[in-house]
Amino acid sequence: MVARYNPQEIEKKWQQKWADDRLYEVSEASPRPKWYALTMFPYTSGDLHIGHWYAMAPADVHARFKRMQGYNVLHPMGFDAFGLPAENAAISRGIHPFTWTMQNIDNMRRQLRSMGAIYDWSREVVTCLPDYYKWTQWFFLKLYQAGLAYRGKAPVNWCPRCQTVLANEQVVDGFCERCGAAVIRRDLEQWFFRITRYADELMEHSGIDWPERIKIMQRNWVGKSLGTEISFALEQPGVDEKEIRVFTTRPDTILGVTFMVLAPEHPLVAKLTSPDKKAEVEEYIARSRRQTEIERLSTGKEKDGVFIGAYVVNRLNGGRVPIWIADYVLMSYGTGAVMAVPAHDERDFAFAKKYNLPIPVVIAPPRWQGEELEAAYTEPGIMVNSGQFNGLPCQQGVEAVSDFLEEKGWGKRTITYRLRDWLISRQRYWGAPIPMIYCPNCGIVPVPEGDLPVLLPEDAEFRPTGESPLKYCEQFVNTTCPRCSAPAKRETDTMDTFMCSSWYFLRYASPNCDTAPFDAQRMKYWLPVDLYTGGAEHAVMHLLYARFFIKALRDMGLVDFDEPFTHLFNQGVIIAEKQKMSKSRGNVITPDAYVSELGVDTVRAYLMFVAPWEQGGEWDDSGISGVSRWLNRVWNLVLGGYSCGDSIARIKAERDIYRIAHQTIRKVTNDLENIHFNTMIAILMELTNHLSKAKELGAITPSCWKWCRDKLLLLLAPTAPHLAEELWERIGHSYSIHNQSWPVWDEELAKDEEITLVVQVNGKLRDRITVPAAITEAEARQIALERQRLKAYLEGKEIINIIYVPGRLVNLVVR
Ligand SMILES: [Zn+2]
Ligand SMILES: [Zn+2]
Repeated sequence: MVARYNPQEIEKKWQQKWADDRLYEVSEASPRPKWYALTMFPYTSGDLHIGHWYAMAPADVHARFKRMQGYNVLHPMGFDAFGLPAENAAISRGIHPFTWTMQNIDNMRRQLRSMGAIYDWSREVVTCLPDYYKWTQWFFLKLYQAGLAYRGKAPVNWCPRCQTVLANEQVVDGFCERCGAAVIRRDLEQWFFRITRYADELMEHSGIDWPERIKIMQRNWVGKSLGTEISFALEQPGVDEKEIRVFTTRPDTILGVTFMVLAPEHPLVAKLTSPDKKAEVEEYIARSRRQTEIERLSTGKEKDGVFIGAYVVNRLNGGRVPIWIADYVLMSYGTGAVMAVPAHDERDFAFAKKYNLPIPVVIAPPRWQGEELEAAYTEPGIMVNSGQFNGLPCQQGVEAVSDFLEEKGWGKRTITYRLRDWLISRQRYWGAPIPMIYCPNCGIVPVPEGDLPVLLPEDAEFRPTGESPLKYCEQFVNTTCPRCSAPAKRETDTMDTFMCSSWYFLRYASPNCDTAPFDAQRMKYWLPVDLYTGGAEHAVMHLLYARFFIKALRDMGLVDFDEPFTHLFNQGVIIAEKQKMSKSRGNVITPDAYVSELGVDTVRAYLMFVAPWEQGGEWDDSGISGVSRWLNRVWNLVLGGYSCGDSIARIKAERDIYRIAHQTIRKVTNDLENIHFNTMIAILMELTNHLSKAKELGAITPSCWKWCRDKLLLLLAPTAPHLAEELWERIGHSYSIHNQSWPVWDEELAKDEEITLVVQVNGKLRDRITVPAAITEAEARQIALERQRLKAYLEGKEIINIIYVPGRLVNLVVR
C-alpha cells in the first residue's frame, strides 16, 4: 500500500532542507558556464497575488531547467521598495513608509520562499535601504559628471490662491482640493536625465532577442521622424520675429495648408493675438493649463481651439494662413507649431470641419474627380493643385518640395524625436534624496562621493503638499557647502523610483559590495542578463530607462556591453471569469488558498499548463484539479513498485516505450528551451499515461521501467521540485535530484518507426517512399506529390483522385 501524496508535508520539509543546505546559492567560482535568469523584481505592495505567481513560478521552472542543463544559474530576487504607493498606504494607515515597506517585504519574502524557487536569498536587494540607495545616488553623480543630468524647467500643479505646488492627488477635476481654485500648470526647476542623447541608439535593438511588439513600442516612443522644417512669414512681422517655423513629415502637402496651429504655450501667442481675441485666447490657455499632456493628446477627446486673430503667409503661393491655438499641439514636440493640411491629416480634417475651414485636396486619391473628401486622405497619391509640383507622386514630391524650400532658404530637412528627457525629480518623501547642494557662492555643488549616502531623514512629515516634505526638515536641508564651507541648502526632491530599478540587476552580482555599486569582476562574470522576464507594461518606461542607463555606463567605461537584457520574454495575464481579476469584481484568485489545499507543485504545474505563457489564460478550478490528479498519479505510479509480467509482446512494447521516452525528452527539452511550457506539461502527462499502461500490462522489463521512471522524475523536477525530490529519495536515489544532469535523448532511438509506402500513378508502381509509421493521410499525399521522380508522370495531367491505403500505398489517379 502506497502512502498518500501529502504535498503540505513534503514541501515544507524540502524547502527547509534546501535552505539549510544552501542548495541554490551560487558562486562565480563555478567551472560551469553562467546563466543569468532574471524576473522583474516586485513592488512591495504587501501580498503576492496571482500575477506575481504567474510571473515568477514559470520563470523559476526555466531557471531550474538551465541549472540541470549544467549552467551556473543566478536567479535572484529583491524588492522595488521606494515609491508613491508605499507613501500613500503609509499615510492612510498612519504608519511610517519604512515600517510599512519592511513589513510587506517580510511577508512577501515568506510567500516567495513558499513558491519553492531557486532564488539565492544571499543576494537579495532592497532599494529603500541606504546600502542600496547610496549607489543610486552615486549613479546620479556619475550622470551629472558626464553631462547627462541637468536642471531644467518642468510643469507642476500650482494653486494660484494657496500659492503652492500641489501633488496630483490634491488636484480634483482640475481644482485645488483645499480651496477650490482652478489649478494651473507652472514651471519649476527640476532634474532631468538626458536620455535623448541616446535616442538613435535606443531605437536599435541589434544583437538582442526581444519581442517584436516591445521593440516597436520603444521605437514609437522614441518617435524619430525625418522631415522638413518650414518657415511661414508673419503677415505683420514683429521687431524680433519675422516667421514661424513648423516641422512636417509631409512637405508634399504644403499647398494644402489652410491654417496653422500653435501650442497654447507657444511664446509668440501673446505677441500675435489681436486685441479683440485676447480674452478668448487667455481663457483657452488657462483651460489647457489645467490638463495633463496625456489628456491633451488622448485620441477620444474632441479637438478644439481658438483663432488668435493673426496670419502667416505660405511662401509657396502667397496664401494667407490664419493662426489658431489648440491644446493637442505640444510645445515640447517639434517646434510647438504645426501646419494644418485638413485634406490629408485626420486630426486637421476634424478640426477644419468643426470650424468650417477650407479643405483643398493636394494629393489625389485613386479615381478622384475633383469632388470634396468625406474623410482625410492620408495614403500616397499624385500631387494636384500644387503648381510646379503637379503630377509628381507624393514620395518624390517630399524630396522636390524640400529641395525647393532649401534652395530658397525657406526650409531645411531635419530630424525630430518624440522622446523627451527623463524628468526624475519627485516632490515626495519616499525616495532616494538627490545628492546635490545649493550654495549661495558656488551655485550647484554635487555632494562629494565620500559623503554618500545622503540619508533620508526618518522624522520628516511626509503628508503630500506637492512640495518635497524634506523642504521642511531643517536638519536635512541645512548643510555646509563642500567647496567653500558656507551655509548651504540641500536639494529636497527625491528621485523617480525608475532610477532605482534601472540598475538593480547589476547589484545582484555583488549585493554586499560596499566600495562600489558592484564588484567589476563579478559583474562582468554575470552580465548581461541572459533571460529577463516580466510584464509587457514596462515596455517604454523601465525597459527603456534600463537600456539608457547601461549605454550611459558603457560610455563612462563602467560596463563593457551595450544592452542589459539579451533575451526578453513577456508573460501574459491570468484572468478569471473572462475578466481581469480585481477586488471590485470579486473574482480575485488567491494562490495561497490553492497552495494550502493542493500544494505548491500543483499550482506551479497548473500555471505552466493553463495557457501559452506569453498569452496568459483563464484560471479554471477543474483545470487545476486535473493537474492535481496527474501529480497524484505520478506519485502512485512511481511508488507502486513494478513487477514484470510475461508478455509475448514485450520486445515490441519495450521498443515503443523507449522511443516514446526519448521523444519526450527531446520535446520537453525543446519546449523548455523555447518557453512553450503548456505543451511541455501535456507531453509529460502523455508519458505518464504510457508508463501507466506499460506497467499495467507488465509489458516491459524492470530495467526499462526504472530507466523511464527516472527520466520522468528528472523531466518533472523543474516544474514540481518538491514532488520530484521526495520521489527521487523514496526510490533510493541520492540527494538531490536538483543536482542531477538534465536527461539527454538519443536521436536514433527517438526516431519514429519507419515504413515504406508504394507510390502508384494510375495503378502502376512509380516510386517508393520511406515515411514515419505514424504518418497521416494528408502528410503521405503531400510527400507523394512533391516527389521529383513523379514529375514526369504527372506533367500536363490532371489529378482526379488520390487513393491512400494506410501503411501500404498512395495511388494517384490522373488523366
Ligand atoms: Zn488652493
Ligand atoms: Zn560654496
